[in-house]
Amino acid sequence: MNYKSKISIGGTLIWYYYICKREVWLIGHGIEPEQENDYIILGRHIHEMFYQNRKKELIIDNTIKIDIIPGKKVIGEIKKSTRYLESAKMQVAFYLYYMKKEKGVKMEGLLLVPEERRRIKVSLTPEVEKELERAISDIERILNMEKPPPAVKIPYCRRCAYKNMCWA
Ligand code: SF4
Repeated sequence: MNYKSKISIGGTLIWYYYICKREVWLIGHGIEPEQENDYIILGRHIHEMFYQNRKKELIIDNTIKIDIIPGKKVIGEIKKSTRYLESAKMQVAFYLYYMKKEKGVKMEGLLLVPEERRRIKVSLTPEVEKELERAISDIERILNMEKPPPAVKIPYCRRCAYKNMCWA
């Protein structure tokens, strides 16, 4: 696996990787969920309400979309809550990894949780980088599977856009 193929994974798949491996496969294979998920709609609404005009969106190589905080070398990611904090941190770390490896730019990360009025710093430490490399390799393994991994019931299933597909 070369470095370029690793980077095409994308931050969203990294987020899901730490939630549900089956969802990684479904998203990665372009399987459309049956309906738009309320959680996603709410996330967008929060994004618009709190951060319109306060940040700029940056699209890198048509694959990775990140928010940048004007005037700072910071990549920001907005979340609805800190419930899936580890996933969110790894998603931001992935963007830092991308900027370092692909663009040669060292940046810091910031998770913004407006509803909880929280700002959480994320740094690309050597340990985090190693864990990311492991996760990226495992995502590639999952995407190469012929069938999705079996469904495993987790609390996130309640809000998952694929819940009817997995549990109907
Ligand atoms: S419904 Fe549950 S098992 Fe199915 S993809 Fe979503 S999180 Fe994974």
